[in-house]
Amino acid sequence: RQVSYAANRDLPAITKDGVEIQLMMNAGLLIDVPQLSATGAAGIGLYRTEVTFMVAHSFPDVARQRDVYARVLDGAEGKPVVFRTLDIGSDKVLPYWQRDAEENPAMGWRALRISLDRPAMLRQQLRAMILAASGRALNVMFPMVALVDEFDAAKEILDLELQRAEEKGSVLPETVRVGAMFEVPALYWQMDEMFARVDFLSVGSNDLAQFVFAADRGNAQLQGRYDPLSPAFQRLIRGIIDAGSAHGKPVSVCGEMAGDPLDAMALMAMGLKTLSMAPPAIGPLRAMVRSLDLGQLQAYMAALGAQRGADMRSSLRAFARDHGV
Ligand code: PEP
Ligand code: MG
Repeated sequence: RQVSYAANRDLPAITKDGVEIQLMMNAGLLIDVPQLSATGAAGIGLYRTEVTFMVAHSFPDVARQRDVYARVLDGAEGKPVVFRTLDIGSDKVLPYWQRDAEENPAMGWRALRISLDRPAMLRQQLRAMILAASGRALNVMFPMVALVDEFDAAKEILDLELQRAEEKGSVLPETVRVGAMFEVPALYWQMDEMFARVDFLSVGSNDLAQFVFAADRGNAQLQGRYDPLSPAFQRLIRGIIDAGSAHGKPVSVCGEMAGDPLDAMALMAMGLKTLSMAPPAIGPLRAMVRSLDLGQLQAYMAALGAQRGADMRSSLRAFARDHGV
């Protein structure tokens, strides 16, 4: 089916039965930001700050980072932006930072682990974000949180930087919201504590699936072997969404599955209202949302759930075909 998605970018992402879905985009470079208006995305649900570090020739200082973050916020023209603090390590390397080789870099010294062991780096990054926000909304998200204590330690550093900015007489952000990525399965058993602390959680389904299935996300031989629509992963995600609603805290998904129409249908059926994806996925997702009767899909999935061994992916595909989604 040939569709022009430019035509649908200004149409609301609302299902046939009136449920509004936030379609946000993932970004990492300044040149991605104009995609906001090109796609009509509701905001940037994941800004991967490490990309700025990966394309630089040396560690960007506070002034350089502030400049980049401010330009992202300028370009977003008031749409929300969620800045994720550095997620280096694993597959993301900095050419100018020599580090010891690790046997299992995905499970190694990466992301928030580095930020907490090198707090000066985190302080500088948060300082740059605070200065960039200056009177505007600031949304910060910490990657690869495995323990509630790690979130607390990171949040404490953010509070110190906010205090410092106030003492220096800087214009503070208008609002500060702090969230975490749900990428490490251990968080599942700390959800009440997590939700009590965060303003929002975003499921990084790429890393989460890698750790749940013990399957390297970059290993071509494992591609397609573990389906995010399989029961184990669906139950996990449903548990996170339900806990979020019980605590009244928003949950989103910002991994690749958010931008896959069938996966996104399943997520929406489970109650998810915010999806963040690569810009080219926004148009197709908007078309899917607008052609979907969510209540009908939920009834269909509930009936399917009662059947043992139902193949969720082919069943969803059949539903989409039969209902013109
Ligand atoms: C994820 O892990 O799903 C995610 C969104 O983060 P990244 O792909 O940058 O690791
Ligand atoms: Mg990740």
